[in-house]
Amino acid sequence: MINLSFLRGSSYIVLGLARSGLAAVRALMAGGVECAAWDDSAETRKAAADAGIKLAEPDKIDWSKITALVISPGIPSHLPKPHAIAAAARAAGKPIICDIELLARAEPKARFVAVTGTNGKSTTTALIAHILESAGWPSQVGGNIGRGALDLEPLGLGGVYVLEMSSYQLELVETFRANVAVWLNIAPDHLDRHGDMAGYVAAKQHVFDRQVTRDCAIIGIDDKYSVEVFRWLSKRRLAEDIALTPLALKRSIAGGVIFQAGRLVDAEGYRVDFADVPTLPGDHNAQNAAAAWSAVRWIGVPREKAKAGLRSYPGLPHRQEQVAAVGDVIYVNDSKATNADATAHALSSYEDIYWILGGQAKEGGVTALAPSFDRVRHAFLIGEAAEMFEGQLTGKVASTRCGDLKSALDAAHAMSEGKGPAVVLLSPACASWDQWKSYEHRGDAFREMARALPGAKVLGRPA
Ligand code: ADP
Repeated sequence: MINLSFLRGSSYIVLGLARSGLAAVRALMAGGVECAAWDDSAETRKAAADAGIKLAEPDKIDWSKITALVISPGIPSHLPKPHAIAAAARAAGKPIICDIELLARAEPKARFVAVTGTNGKSTTTALIAHILESAGWPSQVGGNIGRGALDLEPLGLGGVYVLEMSSYQLELVETFRANVAVWLNIAPDHLDRHGDMAGYVAAKQHVFDRQVTRDCAIIGIDDKYSVEVFRWLSKRRLAEDIALTPLALKRSIAGGVIFQAGRLVDAEGYRVDFADVPTLPGDHNAQNAAAAWSAVRWIGVPREKAKAGLRSYPGLPHRQEQVAAVGDVIYVNDSKATNADATAHALSSYEDIYWILGGQAKEGGVTALAPSFDRVRHAFLIGEAAEMFEGQLTGKVASTRCGDLKSALDAAHAMSEGKGPAVVLLSPACASWDQWKSYEHRGDAFREMARALPGAKVLGRPA
C-alpha cells in the first residue's frame, strides 16, 4: 500500500467505493489522513461502514474543511452530468482528482509509464509490466488494470509504475507526469462523456502534460487523429527536447518503429520477430508490442532481455486467449470483443475460422466485418442478436442459429473435427448482458467448456 502519511492534516472526500476508491480510502486511513467516503449504492455504503469507513452525507459535507475530492474515474465529474458531490466540490472551488494524482505525489522519485489510447491499453500495459518484471526491474502495474493505484507497493528511486490510464483519469491529475507517455491510437468512443471527438482527443492528450527534457513520448500514427497529435508533439519536442517515437504499420518514419503482425523493427534497425508467440497475434498486437518495446528500451531494459520478455508474454484473459486444442483445432476466447471493431482484429488474425458470435448487438451489427468473411468457414449465432446477424450473413457466410454458447461450442466442435487446422473463435461483437453477467463471465464459461471437450488439451494459463 502507498504511504500517504505526508498528507496528514488535510482532509479528503472519496467518491466511489469500487476497486480504486476503496484502495484510496484504505491508504488514506492507514496514513492517518482524515477522509470520508460516498458511493451511490446503499449496499456498497453498508459494506464500507461495516469495514469501519466513515461515510459522508452528500448534502452535509462542510467543503470549507475539505482539501480535495478524490473521484473514481467511472463517475462523471463533467459530462454528461456531474455527480452532485463533484458539482458541490467544484462550486466550493475544491480540486477534483483521482487516485493516480496521490500516487504521483507520494512517489516523487519513482518513474511513471502511462498508457492510453482507444484500444490496446490493457494489453500494452500488461506487456510492459511483464517485460520489466521478467527483466528483474522493480515495477508495479495498476491504474485501470489490476490493482488500484494506492494499493500498489512503494517503489522509490529506480522503481517504475506502469499505469493504464483512461481519458477520465488523465483529466483528474494535477502534478502527475508520465516519464514515458504511450499513446496507441484513437477512434470514436465514450463521446457521451467528452462531448465530441475533439473533447475526447484533448482529454487523452493530457497524457503528455508536464513532460520535460529526457521524458519520452511514444505514439501510434496509423489513424488520422493520432497523426494530428503527432504533428503537435513534433513541434513541442523541438522546444522541450522530449524523446519522440512514432509507431507505424508497415512503413518507416524517421526515428520510429515499424511494425506488422509478428515483427517489429526499431529506430536503430534492430528486428524482433514474435510471429510464433501465440499471445500477440495480428497487426494490432504488433502495435502494442512496438509501444511496449519502445517504452522498456527507454527505461533502460537491454535488448536481449526486452526481447525475451516480449516472447514470454502470457497474454490477458478474454483477448484472443488460446484456451484449448482438440487435435489441430485451436479454441480462442476473445470475449472482450464486445463490438465489431474489436472482432475485426480477431478475424483478421486467423484463417479457417469457426466463429461463435452474438449477444446484445451494437449499432451496425457485423456488416463492417465483410472484408474478413472469406476467412470464416461457418458462423454459430447466439443470444439476442442471432436473427439480425443471420440476416447480415446470409449469402456471405454459412451460419447456424444455436441459441446459447454451449450449443454453439458443441456444434463448432462437431463441424471442425477432422477437417485440418482451424480455429474455433468466440469473438461475439456483442455485449454479453442478455445471457451473462459480464464479458469475463462469458469468456470464463467458454474456456471451461472448451477445456472439457473430449480430447481437449489445455493451452495457456490455468483458469
Ligand atoms: P483496452 O484496454 O484499450 O480496452 P485491450 O488491450 O483490452 O484494450 O484490448 C481489447 C481489444 O481491442 C482486443 O481484444 C483487440 O480486439 C483490440 N485491440 C487490442 N490492441 C489494439 C490496438 N493496438 N489497436 C486496435 N485494436 C486493438
